[in-house]
Amino acid sequence: MEPLTIENARVFDGTGLTPPRPVHIDRGRIVADPVRGARTIDAGAGALLPGLIDTHLHVQARAALESCGHWGVTTALDMATPRPRETLSLRHRDGLTDLFSAGYPAVAPGSGPITAMGYPDHIAVPGPEAAEAFVASRARDGVDYLKILVEPAGPAGMSAFTPETVTALVRSAHSHGLKAIAHATSAAAYQMAVEAGTDVVTHVPLEAVISADLARRVLVTSPTLVMMRGIQTAVGSRLPLDYENARLSVRRLHEAGATVLAGTDANGDPSAPFSPPYGEAMHQELRLLVDAGLSPVEALRAATVRPAEVFGLADRGVIAVGRRADFLLTDDDPTTDIRATTRIRHVWSGGIQLR
Ligand SMILES: [Zn+2]
Repeated sequence: MEPLTIENARVFDGTGLTPPRPVHIDRGRIVADPVRGARTIDAGAGALLPGLIDTHLHVQARAALESCGHWGVTTALDMATPRPRETLSLRHRDGLTDLFSAGYPAVAPGSGPITAMGYPDHIAVPGPEAAEAFVASRARDGVDYLKILVEPAGPAGMSAFTPETVTALVRSAHSHGLKAIAHATSAAAYQMAVEAGTDVVTHVPLEAVISADLARRVLVTSPTLVMMRGIQTAVGSRLPLDYENARLSVRRLHEAGATVLAGTDANGDPSAPFSPPYGEAMHQELRLLVDAGLSPVEALRAATVRPAEVFGLADRGVIAVGRRADFLLTDDDPTTDIRATTRIRHVWSGGIQLR
């Protein structure tokens, strides 16, 4: 990995772009001073952003990570996989988007992931008494956090946990040092996820706007608007679903002070209602977050510094000395027009150029 200097870059510092300046890289990290013999790239006063972090996708193949890298997504947080051995083996490879994984998700017996999505029967958690054994098993797998499908029985048929089971899963996760991420696509599920103390709630309801009272109690959300819009398009005419409810819920959550994270739910699952494309969907998500009321700077923070803070990824998310050299270099300024994130000139992950 050769040392590198990116010259003449307007650096996204979390609030805006700096005047053009050099950024020095050595052994995959940002360093303070120029390194002797470093190769130099002229950024041409383009915008240098921290590599994007997709806080919700599903990865089972290397090609998914290659597509992420092409689009400037340098960190991928897998939020459940039916093949944990394959997924976990793709983590932390040089020259590839850096992957983290939940492994198997916590689901109720007979729920959609088991009957329709290829997850094995044996992972089902029948009640609170089974929570600790399930979480201990995930910890032995070496997962990075726990995913819990919090969903009352309904049209989606995704799960049917009692509040007691969700609470027990969250307690066990925390006792193993794992964050608990809740899948929730209805107001009732959001409520259950919040009351159980989950750390992040992902998705957002399509059936109704969540109440202001509930919004105030949500700490962190990864709404996956691009997925919710895709579901509405795929099945909305058969069910009382409306993307506008998702959009207004995000607006309400943001205004209530919840931390909003960028996530796409990109997947390669033929049984999924919709499959946002790896990497590319992140740019659609950023636009939808702006459409839902975040400023372009807030949307960029939702894809960089915010997820790094929430998931404890202290080595990334901002461009600063000591951090990983994960970057996305764009021609134009996405802090004034979020659509500029797709005009990508180069991408680096851990100091290795991917594009
Ligand atoms: Zn998902």
